[in-house]
Amino acid sequence: MKVFAGDCKAKYGDGMGVPTVEVFAAGAREFLTEHARLKRPREEFQWGQGADQVSLFDEVDPETERTELTAARRWRAVRYDAGYGYITGRSEFGGAGLSRDHERAYAEAEAFFDIPDQRFFTIGLGMVAPTIAAHADPSVAAELLPKMHRGDIVGAQLFSEPGAGSDLASLQMKAERDGDEWVISGQKVWTSGAHYAHIGEVICRNDPSLPKHKGLTAFIVDLTDPAVDVRPLRQMTGGAAFNEVFFNEVRVPDRMRLGEVNAGWRVALTTLMNERAAIGGAGGTGSRIFLRLTETVKHFGRADDPIIRQQLADIYTRGQVLKWNNLRAMAKISAGELPGPEMSGAKLALTGLMRRTSDLSSAILGPKLVVDTGEWGTYAWSGYVTGVPGMSIAGGSDEVLRNIIGERVLGLTKEPGIDTTSPFSELAVGTQRSSPPRQSG
Ligand SMILES: Cc1cc2nc3c(=O)[nH]c(=O)nc-3n(C[C@H](O)[C@H](O)[C@H](O)COP(=O)(O)OP(=O)(O)OC[C@H]3O[C@@H](n4cnc5c(N)ncnc54)[C@H](O)[C@@H]3O)c2cc1C
Repeated sequence: MKVFAGDCKAKYGDGMGVPTVEVFAAGAREFLTEHARLKRPREEFQWGQGADQVSLFDEVDPETERTELTAARRWRAVRYDAGYGYITGRSEFGGAGLSRDHERAYAEAEAFFDIPDQRFFTIGLGMVAPTIAAHADPSVAAELLPKMHRGDIVGAQLFSEPGAGSDLASLQMKAERDGDEWVISGQKVWTSGAHYAHIGEVICRNDPSLPKHKGLTAFIVDLTDPAVDVRPLRQMTGGAAFNEVFFNEVRVPDRMRLGEVNAGWRVALTTLMNERAAIGGAGGTGSRIFLRLTETVKHFGRADDPIIRQQLADIYTRGQVLKWNNLRAMAKISAGELPGPEMSGAKLALTGLMRRTSDLSSAILGPKLVVDTGEWGTYAWSGYVTGVPGMSIAGGSDEVLRNIIGERVLGLTKEPGIDTTSPFSELAVGTQRSSPPRQSG
């Protein structure tokens, strides 16, 4: 069901033009009270009580994941149908046409309620949907964006390949034009959530005779197409949250193209800027983790150690600085400015904070971190410690973000070695695998 601005005004109880943020927030609280339960006040942390969970990635068994996904989608549908699912979206794309302040007011109201985990939509709504809004044919945006915001379909980002990660413009997935369609073949890898996503944003090489950043084109593809083969990858954290995805001559209508032919790099940059803003803007390592770290230090009798106390103070200070910097960045975005290269700094600060937390917890726990002795509050930290390297890579590795800050924020000399003029076909790059046969069992 589409929610146009006209419906929304009635829903928000104003009836006369755009609702003020206060009127809108009051309506949101009413809606939430009717459809969700208030969170219980946060109980004081008690050593040995409650969920023994510190993981950075929510990795659960496939059945639990399916149940959680169904609940998450159901909640998005309820929220969208009430007019709160796509608050800042344009009315022609199923949005409510309201401001970021309205959106923030809703988020603040919702934070008090117990709603199903919405992690399944981080990539689709945080990165793919803004790219569709900016670059898709308006008829495609009008068809997909309401479905995405209502949770009817989930989106994934298919950029990385075995030979193209940090140097994304080296990608080789082939797109060949055939009348009104494109035929796509090749392999993507590290695709988070592809095993439950319905659509994906994919960047392909359509013209290898052009320099590597030039001959690229972006598409939205149907991941449920039988010619798409999605295979989960197991991570060192124990879960399987991402996948390798093989495209075996997948046919995509030209109307599903994002942006112009050969302008795929620009489209990719829109997604990547939103990705860094989403990860970096997610805030500090979290007061819940910091509290647990402090209690771990106390439990193992290290609270009087001056070095440990200094490390704890350092982590706390960095968390606060990150939080305030993010609020400043969010205020800029609310004022209509695009997330820029400075968001690379936010992501870098976040992973630095996580690494310090990981190092301190490892130093306190020693062997209890690697062997599950059944002792509460010990082995659970391994989910955090093994997740931190992934956070330092996802959405741009630490080293690459430092390059971006050096070049685009500080104006330092550019990294040597990026060939922006030779045809891609003349550059030395590896070759891709085709979909290997499935192992039995
Ligand atoms: C948790 C997680 C989720 C992900 N989800 C997705 C997803 O949904 N969709 C998707 O498309 N991809 C996804 N990725 C992939 C991610 O974007 C890539 O892993 C990342 O871009 C790095 O590429 P790579 O793994 O090929 O490493 P490489 O690019 O090969 O880098 C290897 C090492 O070399 C360093 N390095 C590379 N270039 C430079 C340079 N110029 N200067 C200095 N050092 C350099 C890197 O920092 C790194 O340490 C995900 C990754 C992770 C960890």
